[in-house]
Amino acid sequence: MFSTAFLDLPPLQTASGTVALPGSKSISNRVLLLSALCEGTTVVHDLLDSDDTRVMLAALRQLGCGVQLQASTVTITGLGGSAQNHASIAFFMGNAGTAMRPLTAALAVLGGDYTLSGVPRMHERPIGDLVDALRLLGCQIDYLGNEGFPPLRIGKPALQLQAPIRVRGDVSSQFLTALLMALPLVAHDQDIAIDVVGELISKPYIDITLNLLARYGIAVRSEHDGRFVIPKGSHYRSPGSIHVEADASSASYFIGLGAIVSGPGIRIEGVGADSIQGDIRFVEAAQAMGALVEKGPNWLQISRGQWPLRAIAGDFNHIPDAAMTLAVMALYADGPSELRNIASWRVKETDRIAAMATQLRKLGAQVEEGPDWLRIHPLPQAQWKPASIHTYDDHRIAMCFSLAAFNPAAIAVRIEDPKCVAKTFPDYFEALFSVSQTMPGAIPVLCVDGPTASGKGTLASTLASQLGYHFLDSGALYRITAYAALQVGLALDEAHADAIAALAATLDIRFAGERVWLGTQDISDAIRTEQAGMNASAVSSLGAVRAALVGLQHSFRRLPGLVADGRDMGTVIFADATLKVYLTASAERRAERRHKQLISKGISTTLDTLCADLQARDARDTQRAVAPLKPAQDAKLLDNSELTVESSVTQVLNWWQSKQPFGATSVA
Ligand code: C5P
Repeated sequence: MFSTAFLDLPPLQTASGTVALPGSKSISNRVLLLSALCEGTTVVHDLLDSDDTRVMLAALRQLGCGVQLQASTVTITGLGGSAQNHASIAFFMGNAGTAMRPLTAALAVLGGDYTLSGVPRMHERPIGDLVDALRLLGCQIDYLGNEGFPPLRIGKPALQLQAPIRVRGDVSSQFLTALLMALPLVAHDQDIAIDVVGELISKPYIDITLNLLARYGIAVRSEHDGRFVIPKGSHYRSPGSIHVEADASSASYFIGLGAIVSGPGIRIEGVGADSIQGDIRFVEAAQAMGALVEKGPNWLQISRGQWPLRAIAGDFNHIPDAAMTLAVMALYADGPSELRNIASWRVKETDRIAAMATQLRKLGAQVEEGPDWLRIHPLPQAQWKPASIHTYDDHRIAMCFSLAAFNPAAIAVRIEDPKCVAKTFPDYFEALFSVSQTMPGAIPVLCVDGPTASGKGTLASTLASQLGYHFLDSGALYRITAYAALQVGLALDEAHADAIAALAATLDIRFAGERVWLGTQDISDAIRTEQAGMNASAVSSLGAVRAALVGLQHSFRRLPGLVADGRDMGTVIFADATLKVYLTASAERRAERRHKQLISKGISTTLDTLCADLQARDARDTQRAVAPLKPAQDAKLLDNSELTVESSVTQVLNWWQSKQPFGATSVA
C-alpha cells in the first residue's frame, strides 16, 4: 500500500495482463455480521482486508464473537442471536458505513448498553431514517451529537413487531439492508414486514443482501409495493463455509482501463458472469461506451473496441459506485456524457458529485453538475492540464482518477493521500502498475550521488519511502558481486574482470526491505562490513563489471518511480534523471558519523584514522579512471555537514516538487 502524502502517476501509455481482485467490501462485511449472528462456526474465505472489514472485525470481537484470522480466511464463532458481552461497549466505526448501519440495527434489536461513533465524516452521514424505523419497532436509540447523525447510544428495546416497519428507501439502501439483517433475530413467533417508503435506490445492493440472507437460512419474501417479509420461525444457520466474491465496483477501474488502452486488453479474475453484485452491470455501461467484453463465471476480459469511446447518457442509479469510473472514461469519449439519477453520490464518503466535478475541472475538463446529475465533456489532447487530485478520503475518487494518467497529452497525474484506497482495495496502485506500461524515460528517477559516508543511503531511502518509489542501492550490487566472486574463489583484480562480470550478469539478487538475498542466502550482514565495502570498491573499478551491472540497474526503473543511490547514478546509469543531487559533507563530519556507526557496532577506531582514510578514499575515488566520483553537471549540490537528515530530505523534496508540474499540493 502507498502511505505517502501523494503519489505521482507518470503518464501511462498502455496496459495489458491479468489482475486478481480483492474481495468485495459489501459482501465481506455482510458475511462477517451474518456469521456473527449465527450459532456455530463459519469459515469465510477470500475476505477483503480493508479499513471497513477491520472495523467490523474489531466490533465483533468486542461483542464477544470468536474471530480467528489467517491470511484472507477468517473463522467466526457466532453469538447465536444474543450478545455475549453484556458490559457496556463503545464501538469506534471509523468511516465504515457498511459496518455502522447494519451493526446499529443488530445491536438495537439485540439490546444492551452501546455507543457507536466514528470519524468526523461519519458524524455527517445521515442515519436518521434507520433510527426512526428502529424506534418505531421499540428500539432505544439516542443521538449523542446532532439529531439524525452518529454518534449514537443504544439501550434495551421493548419490541413491538406486529405492525409493518416503514423505512425510507431513497436515502441509502444500507438502511433496508440493516433491517433485513437485524430482524431475523426476532422473527421467531411472527412474520415481520418491512415497507419501503419512496423509491428504493441502489436496489442491487438489496439483492446482495437477500442473496446472502438465503445462504444463511433466511428466505425473505419480496412482495408487491416494496414490501419485504421475514417469515415467522426464521433462524440464522451458518453455511459452514462461504467464499467472498471479488468486488465488482473495484473491477470497474480495470474494465475502464481495458476499454481505453490499445492492445490485448485486461483480464480480471475473481468476479464475472455469475456475480451477485449489482455493480457487475458496469460491464454493460462500458460496452455501451465501446469496450469489447468476454466473460466466464468468475472472470472478465476487456479490450478496446470503439475509439474514442462513445459518449454515454443515462440513469445510473443502479450502479452508483461504479458509475464514478464512467465520469473519468467520459474524458476519452466522442461527445458529452451525462450521468443521471445519482443523488446518492452526495451522501457517500464525500459529496461525490461536487468532488468529481471539481477534480475533473482541474484536469481541464468542462463539467456541469446538478442536484442529481453530472455532465462531462471530452477533453481534447491540447487541453489536458497537470493536476493534483484531492481525494477527500474517498477511495473511489483516488482509484477512478488513476485512469486520467492514460491521457493522450502524456501528462502526469498526482493522487493525494493515496492510502485512502485501503477502504476497499489496499493494493490498488500496485495492481494498476503491474499491468501498466509507459514509454521509456517517462518513469521518473531521482539520483543521489556523493562520497562515502555522506549519508546518501539514508537520504535516498527516506526519499524513496516518502515518494512511494522503488529504491536502488547500487553500492549493494557491487558489494554482492564482490561477495559472490570471492565465494567462487575469484580474486578481485583486472585479470579476473571478465569472469566476475559474467558472474555479475547472472546473480539472483533480491531486496526485501532491509534484507538482501543472494539465491537462498540472506547476505545482508555479510555485505555490510568494512571489508565488504573495500571489496566492492575493488570490483567497482573493473570496467567489465560496471558494464555487466548496467542492465540490472536499469531494471529498477519501474512504475511509479525510482530513487537511485550511488556514485554514477546521475552521470552514467540514469543520465536523463529528473533530479540529481550530489550530497556531500566535510571529511571531519563524515568521519564523525562513520565513527558513531562503527562504535555502535562495537568496532573500535579513532576519529583521526577515519578522517585520514576518508580523505585518501576521496582522493582515490575522484581520480580513478573508471567511474570517478564527480557530480553530474546538472546536479544540485547539497552540503549536509550542518543539516539533520530531516532537513536534507525536506530540501531535496522541495527541489523535487519544483520540478513537478502540479503546483502546491494540499494534503488533507
Ligand atoms: O555505497 P556503498 O558504500 O555500498 O558502495 C560501495 C563501493 O562501491 C563504493 O565505495 C564505490 O567504490 C562502489 N560504487 C560504485 N558505483 C556505484 C555505487 C558504489 O563504484 N554506483
